[in-house]
Amino acid sequence: MLGALRSAVRELCQRYPDQYWRELDVARAYPEAFVQELTDAGYMATLIPEEYGGAGLGVTEAAAILEEIHHCGANAAACHAQMYIMGTLLRHGSEAQKREYLPRIASGKIRLQAFGVSEPDSGSDTTQLKTTAVRESDRYIINGKKIWISRAEHSDLMLLVERTTPADEVAKRTDGLSTILVDLRQAVGHGLTIRPIRTMMNHATTELFFDNLEVPVANLVGEEGKGFRYLLDSLNAERVLIASECIGDARWFIERACRYANERVVFGKPIGRNQGIQFPIARAYANLEAARLMVSRAAELFDSGAACGAEANMAKLLAADASWEAANVAVQTYGGFGFAEEYDIERKFRETRLYQVAPVSTNLILSYLAEHVLELPRSY
Ligand SMILES: Cc1cc2nc3c(=O)[nH]c(=O)nc-3n(C[C@H](O)[C@H](O)[C@H](O)COP(=O)(O)OP(=O)(O)OC[C@H]3O[C@@H](n4cnc5c(N)ncnc54)[C@H](O)[C@@H]3O)c2cc1C
Repeated sequence: MLGALRSAVRELCQRYPDQYWRELDVARAYPEAFVQELTDAGYMATLIPEEYGGAGLGVTEAAAILEEIHHCGANAAACHAQMYIMGTLLRHGSEAQKREYLPRIASGKIRLQAFGVSEPDSGSDTTQLKTTAVRESDRYIINGKKIWISRAEHSDLMLLVERTTPADEVAKRTDGLSTILVDLRQAVGHGLTIRPIRTMMNHATTELFFDNLEVPVANLVGEEGKGFRYLLDSLNAERVLIASECIGDARWFIERACRYANERVVFGKPIGRNQGIQFPIARAYANLEAARLMVSRAAELFDSGAACGAEANMAKLLAADASWEAANVAVQTYGGFGFAEEYDIERKFRETRLYQVAPVSTNLILSYLAEHVLELPRSY
């Protein structure tokens, strides 16, 4: 089953060759055709239960899809969020919300691609976020700003995390945050302004400014004040899925590096005959395979409903390190051509660098492991 799924994804991706991604990268344009085809093929509805029109599969299958997309040199960052944001709606949304949104998301009529957590002033300390939603009869009035909110210009819905009870009125600093679905089509121009941020890679990320945006109370997902808990729930899926993209990137870099090392002749022999070229590629391969085992383990635990915080975090850490090592090795193997746009190595190198920082930075994963697994003192 997984093998057939992987082949089908690869077949689709072959219709979007290097040149497609290269041109979009130069223009910093959104891969609309690619995302539409993935949606039409049903891949973006992998985690939606069958009763709501989805495939009803698990994170294991979703991870395989994202890995293959990246293994083909493509980039799922344009659409991966729909897979992990979905978890909050599935687990904590009301039946009415699921009936209203899931079938239309599954069929591709609407997109749930934006996840609004990060803010300029709170950084990794999510409990300190400042955006507020104040209830006034049947509406929430939202004020504040968000940064790095990817795909907001290409999504119909955004899951927004904001404060509904002031920080000085809650018992625990993780209390008082809530998750609200914002209909971006209605919000833009009526209290929400989206400003794109140009980044080192093509990522469609933005800043958001909320100025008395009104959202119906019916859009609250789950209970008011419990948003931080819901956020943690979806983060494990996010870590595993992003880790699988890193695995795909690492495979792509290693395959390209091997191909080039066999073809490129210098001093009368292929550069791949030199152990100075072979060994870094072989080491990157070993690290990739080790990371891959951790990703499968984390996905398996997630799908069985078991606790997987440690494994999901380790999967993200090891896979992001493996893809970054493979990226570096590929640049070194390609020599000067590693820097030329037409070889695509430099583009993927820029793309995979992100995963040391986002969606969670390496230091924060190490802190999690130190504190929650190794029982070392909390550092922050
Ligand atoms: C291209 C891109 C897309 C993104 N997309 C989204 C999105 O769609 N939605 C969204 O909500 N967010 C998104 N983000 C935000 C991303 O999740 C954050 O950038 C990331 O979590 C790091 O937060 P920060 O940038 O505020 O860094 P900071 O928290 O300011 O940290 C800066 C550095 O300090 C380190 N640091 C901070 N505290 C500690 C500590 N206690 N111990 C050790 N080191 C520490 C960090 O590891 C990091 O290296 C995106 C970011 C980027 C760059």
